[in-house]
Amino acid sequence: MKSHFDVIIVGAGPAGVSAAISCINNELKVVLVDSKKKEKIGDKVCGEAISKETSHTASDLLKVQYPHGEEINANVKELVLQTAIDEDHIALPAIGYMVNRHKYGQRLLQDALERGVKLLDQTKVIRTIIKEKKVTGVVIKTLNKEEGELYSKLVIDCSGVRGVVRTTIDESLEPFLYTKLTKSDYASCYREIIELNKEHDLDGKIILKYEKDIPAPGYIWFFADGCKRLNCGTGFIKEGINKDKSVKSVYFNAMAKYYHPETYTVLDGRGGNVPIRPPLWSAVAPGLLVAGDAAFHADPLTAEGHGPALLAGYYAGQIAKEVIDRNEYSTQALWGYNRHIFSSFGSDNARSRILTITLEKLGADNLEFLLTRKVIKQADLTSEGILKKNSLFNLLIRAIRCLPKIGLLVIIKRTIDVSKAVAELFDEYPETPDKFGEWVAKIENLYAKLN
Ligand SMILES: Cc1cc2nc3c(=O)[nH]c(=O)nc-3n(C[C@H](O)[C@H](O)[C@H](O)COP(=O)(O)OP(=O)(O)OC[C@H]3O[C@@H](n4cnc5c(N)ncnc54)[C@H](O)[C@@H]3O)c2cc1C
Repeated sequence: MKSHFDVIIVGAGPAGVSAAISCINNELKVVLVDSKKKEKIGDKVCGEAISKETSHTASDLLKVQYPHGEEINANVKELVLQTAIDEDHIALPAIGYMVNRHKYGQRLLQDALERGVKLLDQTKVIRTIIKEKKVTGVVIKTLNKEEGELYSKLVIDCSGVRGVVRTTIDESLEPFLYTKLTKSDYASCYREIIELNKEHDLDGKIILKYEKDIPAPGYIWFFADGCKRLNCGTGFIKEGINKDKSVKSVYFNAMAKYYHPETYTVLDGRGGNVPIRPPLWSAVAPGLLVAGDAAFHADPLTAEGHGPALLAGYYAGQIAKEVIDRNEYSTQALWGYNRHIFSSFGSDNARSRILTITLEKLGADNLEFLLTRKVIKQADLTSEGILKKNSLFNLLIRAIRCLPKIGLLVIIKRTIDVSKAVAELFDEYPETPDKFGEWVAKIENLYAKLN
């Protein structure tokens, strides 16, 4: 079997369906390949929180309906960072939805199919075809183990955290595209959707509760998913002393402190991996774009990757149209995609990683200390907060409150400095690939300062 398309999209999660709709809106001939059965597409283990702003922006760009009806389980109003002491917390406005991933994903898939996207479901992409230093297609395997080849002008890898295309290209093809994962690039998670015996009082909240027994990033989440329902879970980087720890056991131990197993029924319990590094500094190679989890587009602090995946898919489809019109598929021709990603959500997510590293470094005990002593306050984490009001007097007050743990202030100060410098560096994201190596060296140097 050999077929030719304008664009092959690997994976029909949010990044893939969005890329497919974006391509078809641009009248490209597109095939969407997913290893899942059509009816199961969109059903993914997830915290299910999505920002209203991002989902609406993506819907407007793609010309599809906003999440609605049974696709929404509950509304989200705030993100709460909390330690074991309930009163000491930081609550940030976070307007959004708790969505039913499966129903929302199925509707977007249906939208794509009705507009003319071809779907190959139950079809696994097993490797990438490269000819003359350009990605030209993929090798697929069907359910009955038949192998085939698909060819296209452009491939968009939306295959989630494993990044099947990204990881099967020859590294020399694109020296700046990370081709392999390291263990510290993602967290292994376990999450449950539970129904409590009685109503909870967490309406509108998505809570990250920092616990000293949970390895870094160090929290269990409780997302209100309806008046009795909660989406709860935890995850951590499985390396070093945590390599052999069971995520499920860590979750059950943490969970038992808040909800006795007899007070709820588990509706769904599953594991999954969340990318937690900053977005790939470049997500293009000749003939290839990478979007969503495959390009580490999720927010490293909250794991919010659904909205970014929708946006990345849209931009991938726009760039696909541009390069196909010009019949040019070099890194240089595709470079505008990187600039879209970083000016849209990428630089925020990259800075979110800085906050995650700091929270990991502090640990639950120190975070509790900083919140109790009011060294870190809610207003600090808003855009007008700690970054702007970093006066000497302010630091002095914080230092006094911080005694005897004055070292913590050094960590906070370093976080602020690195975060500012990273923001400035994103304003200078290279316009073309030739200055990219220099830029990467600078940004990686900044992240190294956090260690
Ligand atoms: C425990 C957990 C909690 C999370 N909580 C949240 C949250 O609250 N909010 C939020 O916004 N995000 C959350 N996320 C992240 C979010 O789920 C992802 O960022 C999002 O799904 C990324 O979309 P994607 O399209 O890139 O990848 P995916 O949704 O993973 O889709 C990838 C698709 O590719 C297909 N595929 C994979 N390999 C192949 C192959 N070889 N051949 C063919 N098809 C293939 C898969 O079947 C799948 O359909 C969470 C993730 C996890 C694991």
